[in-house]
Amino acid sequence: MRIEENHGLAQHTTLGVGGKARRYVEVETAGELVDALKGAHEAHLPVFILGGGSNVLVGDEGFEGVVIRLGMKGMTWESREGSEIVRVDAGAKFDDVVAESCRRGLAGIESLSGIPGSAGGALVQNIGAYGQEISECFVSARVIHRETLEEAEFGREAMAFGYRHTALKSANSPWVVTSLTLRLVPYDMQTAVKRCEAHGFKRLAVNRPRCAEALREVVLETRRSKGMVYDEKDVNTHSVGSFFVNPVVSEKDAQRHNAANILRNQKPMPSYPCEGGVKLSAAWLIEQSGFSRGFLHRGAGLSALHSLAIINRGGATSADVVSLAEEIVRGVYKYFRIELCPEVVYLGPRGVVEPFLKPVQ
Ligand SMILES: Cc1cc2nc3c(=O)[nH]c(=O)nc-3n(C[C@H](O)[C@H](O)[C@H](O)COP(=O)(O)OP(=O)(O)OC[C@H]3O[C@@H](n4cnc5c(N)ncnc54)[C@H](O)[C@@H]3O)c2cc1C
Repeated sequence: MRIEENHGLAQHTTLGVGGKARRYVEVETAGELVDALKGAHEAHLPVFILGGGSNVLVGDEGFEGVVIRLGMKGMTWESREGSEIVRVDAGAKFDDVVAESCRRGLAGIESLSGIPGSAGGALVQNIGAYGQEISECFVSARVIHRETLEEAEFGREAMAFGYRHTALKSANSPWVVTSLTLRLVPYDMQTAVKRCEAHGFKRLAVNRPRCAEALREVVLETRRSKGMVYDEKDVNTHSVGSFFVNPVVSEKDAQRHNAANILRNQKPMPSYPCEGGVKLSAAWLIEQSGFSRGFLHRGAGLSALHSLAIINRGGATSADVVSLAEEIVRGVYKYFRIELCPEVVYLGPRGVVEPFLKPVQ
């Protein structure tokens, strides 16, 4: 177990901003996790579980509590009734699971190739890309209560999956994911192509990838061209991926926005039907409101490759990132009367802060 006091958190996040944690603990076993949780409870300190730090914005004041990082990275595979069941420790790198699944010719998480972070973080955030979400192949998760140390197994209902959301993402959730189980099935090109077509991912559909590994390659190539594969040397990837979620509006509102855009630009507005209404493209809304790729704002900015990625251009503070996010939210609201919501988790001095951006009205 590694324990550090007053430990800088920026180095453990892809955005690379923010202050220090009062205590930082890396655990390698379930027993060490229990010890770290007990220690925090006895010291009356709040706990924050950090995965790969790829969807966390740490405030400049840091965190007056204990940050715990899980180092358990095991993965076991078992064939069952024509599918493969994989059980993964929460500290494993999620993309290692995706790569191994593709190597085995399996489908279920292949479109999630190249998303940084841990398996635990992937589940808590219900990650998604190219029309696929981790929730689709979810079977169960082993969890432990951070205060009572009660252990439980969560099924689909307890997870309450939503778009980039689960019950565990909520600021008040006391649960720590220790492992998760996914069901994967043999890759089938027709099914993959159909899904890509349905979600408007023409490049993937046109390629007609013959196997899961081929699809993974196309996804990685596409993601790299957008700065969506984290690379320590490329400042355009020093982000949390999409800073905002795509807004979901009613069918009627989508039609109204579309009509207005045709009047303005002679072009329809990009939109996709989804559960609960119509999903609009946050990246498109941001660009239309005057924030183009490469937009600069103090030490922060927009990626030169993707307008939905707020980046640390080098030396940014957390306040720079927040103030750019607020400027974008205000700008989009002024133009479209749509209030963008962040996808990122904000860690303040006492814990997760929700909401953390100033409301526009
Ligand atoms: C370049 C780039 C591209 C990205 N592309 C995508 C994309 O295409 N799609 C997408 O959905 N996301 C994307 N992301 C966002 C991010 O990678 C995912 O949300 C990722 O799954 C977060 O995992 P993490 O381990 O880094 O979690 P962290 O950022 O460390 O934590 C996120 C939240 O999960 C909680 N958490 C983490 N582990 C546990 C655990 N074991 N138990 C309980 N809570 C836990 C944390 O407390 C926090 O609330 C991208 C990010 C970057 C930097």
